[in-house]
Amino acid sequence: MGLAGVEVRPTPQRLNDGTRRRSIPASPATPYILVPHLLNYVDELLSAWLKGHGQGAYRAKQIRHWLFALRADDFQQMTDLSQTLRSELAAEFTLWTTSIVRHTQADDGTEKLLLALADGGQIECVLLRDEVRRTICISTQVGCGMGCVFCASGLDGLERNLTSGEIVEQMLRLQRLLGIDERLSHVVVMGMGEPLANLDNLLPALEEASREDGLGISARRITISTVGLPKPMRRLAEAGARYRLAVSLHAPNEETRRRIVPVGEKIFLADILAEADAYFEVSGRQLTFEYVLLAGINDSPDDAHELARLLGHRTALVNVIPFNPVAGLPYRTPSTTAQQTFRRILEEHGLAVRFRHKKGDAIDAACGQLRRRIQGNAAAV
Ligand code: SAH
Repeated sequence: MGLAGVEVRPTPQRLNDGTRRRSIPASPATPYILVPHLLNYVDELLSAWLKGHGQGAYRAKQIRHWLFALRADDFQQMTDLSQTLRSELAAEFTLWTTSIVRHTQADDGTEKLLLALADGGQIECVLLRDEVRRTICISTQVGCGMGCVFCASGLDGLERNLTSGEIVEQMLRLQRLLGIDERLSHVVVMGMGEPLANLDNLLPALEEASREDGLGISARRITISTVGLPKPMRRLAEAGARYRLAVSLHAPNEETRRRIVPVGEKIFLADILAEADAYFEVSGRQLTFEYVLLAGINDSPDDAHELARLLGHRTALVNVIPFNPVAGLPYRTPSTTAQQTFRRILEEHGLAVRFRHKKGDAIDAACGQLRRRIQGNAAAV
């Protein structure tokens, strides 16, 4: 597969004429920075550089094709570019800023990557195989600041937002796990982090996912899952509501929600639902509400009735996710009977219900779990 590790280069020395010289030998005292990451704003970086080097704009198309369609791992593989151009590009840009800490595979075809970022942070991303679907689940932040009490991702708080390039890089890394007869078909932004808290970096990355000369995945097959941040939800609706939106409700009333989604102290369910409705007005597509089922907390028949009343007339799909146990957390997965009763009540109220299959359990495919296990073990050594 030839996945290169983190590439760091010596800081280029700035000369008086403003140009940069790269032939400065690295010494231990040299401060190290990343050379420009091509996956951050591919078009902007390439067009400026190609122009400055007297190269035609069509070169950018060739490079894109190698990266997104032909799954090239480095510039040397781009054989319709001259050897000189390939070397110059390799000296100017880095393609990969992450390294694979762990690659796990489950019997059901699920594969998960734990990636180390250039600054040492770790994130996860997952490839799920389901009949002809090839879905990738990507992260948008290192850690998470929302503090949902049942979720492994936020247990240590938020470290930082991912760059756009780091988000694209996850998609390309996962794409490169596919066989040559497989193609990515869906993206779910349900990995670590709150996507709508990093919308500025997420949107350019999703643009690369959906562009014909990017990964070519239709926007309808891209789902953003949010804890329900009203302002950015509005921004997404105003931008055309291109992507599917899944809203994590997890509770049928404010009191229960505050117990399990602390960010909900400042955000009311009514505001979240109003923004979800506004999104639906623009997109016209069925809304999805996610509901993590926690034994004894939000899984009673009363909770189901109240949830159905809350969602009322909406054309909504309720995606129920039975709690996926996280080491060290006191929550429990409801019994099969409790799950079935919850489902039946919602269906009797006319709601469309889907229980998320538990794929990749054996490899800790739920968000934040692999990172925690590995970092926890490392800390224990
Ligand atoms: N921040 C986004 C994405 C989170 S991951 C959001 O809140 O929607 C996608 C879904 O998985 C969310 O609904 C999240 O609450 C849920 N989830 C997180 N940890 C879980 C666990 N241990 N068991 C079941 N679902 C979980």
